[in-house]
Amino acid sequence: MPLDFTFTEEQEMLRQAIREWCSKNLTLEKVREMDTKGEIPHDVIKGLADLNLLVMTAREDVGGMNADWVTTVIAAEELGYADISLAVPVFFLVQAGWGFVVDRYASEEVRQDYVARAIRGEGFVGIASTEPGGGSDVAAMKSRAERRGDKWILNGEKTYISGTEEAKAMNGGYFTIVRTEPEKGHRGMTAFFLPINAPGVEVVKRFEDLGRMAISTGGFVMKDVELTDAYVIGEVNKGFYLTMEGFDCARLLVAATCVGAARRALEIGMDYIKQRKAFGRPIGKFEGIQFELADLWTELQATRWLVYRTAWMMDKKYKEGAFSPLEVCQWVSMCKLKAPQLAFRIFERTMIWHGAYGYTKECPLEMGLRGVMSYYIGAEGAQNIQRIIIARELLGKEFIPYR
Ligand SMILES: Cc1cc2nc3c(=O)[nH]c(=O)nc-3n(C[C@H](O)[C@H](O)[C@H](O)COP(=O)(O)OP(=O)(O)OC[C@H]3O[C@@H](n4cnc5c(N)ncnc54)[C@H](O)[C@@H]3O)c2cc1C
Repeated sequence: MPLDFTFTEEQEMLRQAIREWCSKNLTLEKVREMDTKGEIPHDVIKGLADLNLLVMTAREDVGGMNADWVTTVIAAEELGYADISLAVPVFFLVQAGWGFVVDRYASEEVRQDYVARAIRGEGFVGIASTEPGGGSDVAAMKSRAERRGDKWILNGEKTYISGTEEAKAMNGGYFTIVRTEPEKGHRGMTAFFLPINAPGVEVVKRFEDLGRMAISTGGFVMKDVELTDAYVIGEVNKGFYLTMEGFDCARLLVAATCVGAARRALEIGMDYIKQRKAFGRPIGKFEGIQFELADLWTELQATRWLVYRTAWMMDKKYKEGAFSPLEVCQWVSMCKLKAPQLAFRIFERTMIWHGAYGYTKECPLEMGLRGVMSYYIGAEGAQNIQRIIIARELLGKEFIPYR
């Protein structure tokens, strides 16, 4: 009987350690404070580093845990449960997902400096793919890198980028994708590690977002930014494929974090409907409410196991080559499609159960609604793009709608 849904002892211990830390250091009061002040305090980042959660997917020689994907999903789920605004989960998952790809394919120079510092909570590794012209069509990005002598010269603009302020303050950088041989389309794109404080990089914007207020979203311009070969990630002209690999890693963690946040929302909702009375009894006694709870809980469990099954596939892919990248990609897209939309619905419904109180900032749920909306609307990939990937694997490449 090979099908076994249990976690290892180490995984259970890690889940417990994160829960304990969050119950003291990442309470809903603290999350509200971060949401209001618009920043993640240093003690929280240090706490994540002390728990070895930052870029936990990186290898041990730079200080990482070399964590597998099931373990990393556990961390993402627990952080989503604690910080329903999703600011800390974003800080965690962008780095665990994209930091994994940087650690795997970047030079020793980049790994030993940028990845190692991010792991210690003294740096930041993000993703800068989206441009003012759009994010879904990665192959249409306009930013370029030209070879001049033994250097690469980067020009272009990236926008709606998570963590630009944090990256600047911590001297971090981004996995970024640019054209190196424009006439070759997606086969002429290269990934670079772009230090945010490199001469020629200018952070030009901080957006006023709807949610996850404690982490910034911004944009930057690259003007004649000079990088050596040490900053090329992987092979020249293979950046598109590395970007797709990074999206798989990050999207899986996005789904996990949405599952965690949605679980918290249902727990908050259950506490409320057990004690709030209308017509002489707790509102949880009314079928109009408890049937909805039962439906949402069932959907959440189904989604949660979809996410863990996909994490298990990712581990099999990396450790044993057991599943093809496209197969895994389809499952990841199912997770990214389902979890944010379900989480959004769960926050919306549990807010409704709270009546007028649910519409106030005295109730924590609105932070969650705003937070999960970021992933529902498209951070780490829009919903329709996930649908295209899923349908492509079901129907064949000839059914890709934009070709
Ligand atoms: C809070 C937040 C943080 C973000 N952080 C980052 C980051 O750190 N790094 C980064 O690179 N990007 C980041 N993004 C950008 C994100 O990756 C993009 O929003 C996403 O890829 C979609 O791109 P777009 O917003 O330009 O929408 P578009 O690509 O312009 O798409 C607009 C709409 O059209 C739909 N659409 C597009 N093509 C098709 C099609 N073929 N068929 C049907 N529908 C289609 C999409 O589903 C979407 O609803 C962030 C976004 C948000 C909201």
